[in-house]
Amino acid sequence: MRDVNLELGGLLLDMATLVGNSQRAWGYKRAAKAVFRLDRHVTPLIEANTFKAVPGIGPTTDRIARELIYDGKSLLVEEAIRVAGKEGAIATLRGFRQHFISRATMEEVLARRGTPSRGKYRGDFQMHSVWSDGSETLESVVEACLARGYQCAGMTDHSYGLPIAGGMSMAQVIEQHAVIDELNARYQGRFRMFKGIETNIRTDGTVDMEADELHLFEFVVASPHSVLRKTIDQTPRMVGAVSQPGVCILGHPQGRRFNVRPGVAADWDQVFEVAAKREVAIEIDGSWDRQDVHYALAERALQRGCLFALDSDAHAHPELDFCDIAIAHARLAAIPEARIVNYWSDKRFLEWARSAWDR
Ligand SMILES: [Zn+2]
Repeated sequence: MRDVNLELGGLLLDMATLVGNSQRAWGYKRAAKAVFRLDRHVTPLIEANTFKAVPGIGPTTDRIARELIYDGKSLLVEEAIRVAGKEGAIATLRGFRQHFISRATMEEVLARRGTPSRGKYRGDFQMHSVWSDGSETLESVVEACLARGYQCAGMTDHSYGLPIAGGMSMAQVIEQHAVIDELNARYQGRFRMFKGIETNIRTDGTVDMEADELHLFEFVVASPHSVLRKTIDQTPRMVGAVSQPGVCILGHPQGRRFNVRPGVAADWDQVFEVAAKREVAIEIDGSWDRQDVHYALAERALQRGCLFALDSDAHAHPELDFCDIAIAHARLAAIPEARIVNYWSDKRFLEWARSAWDR
């Protein structure tokens, strides 16, 4: 699958890295952002000679786009890399941009008829509020989700093991749960907020909370937040994470970041096999700079028999839109809705989450 917008944005980020001069680097980054955010493909705009009219796009970007589309690569960028002698550094960055999709591709994938659908998506199971590093109150999250047509949501603020992300103390957890109970009583029949937590996977594969603490939650997400830049094999760590009692979703499994870092290196087939056996859902985190796991890895997880969760990882209301990126990856991987927890009833979701203690 070719994604010219993604390739072009990447070339602009290559240029930003090469020019050094902060003013010019800023211009290239701005242009890259404009390309990633574009809701249409660049190719027809180039062919119609209207690409230059897009805000943020200058003559150099237009030239790079033409070269990319008509020659398959940009001589301008390749020459700049050669002159700077930065072949190695640029190749590394390009490795951090694999299997992402641009907004234009996402829109195209979602515009097709098919599943998983946007309309039947019942709710999002990774999001953050003012109780950790998010910026919204729980009540406003309920309203924002209702406005999107959701029937439920899983609130997953960070655990105390991640103080840098404002992780909640256990005293705060108790307080938060009282607020969620009050909201669930008030919105009964219309909306259900599930009490979740995003725990942090330690390097030894355990999670950073005690079993009696984890028992307070209705569902537990475990995600890696450290050792995300090394090439060492971390299969035991990730197998350990999906083997922890109570854990039911493996959040942003790789921990990769677009153009920044590769994330965890592991034998994913082995991780997925254990996850499938324990019915731990593999998350497709739709944050645009995560897209983790991506469609190609998701396809492998599906072949191993895994369940999935399609989440936004929103820290503010506009980021709830990121679930669309997750849905697009799931479509590319051809994951049936029956295997995705976001399409299950409240009852089925809760039973599955509870049974994570006995599997
Ligand atoms: Zn996280």
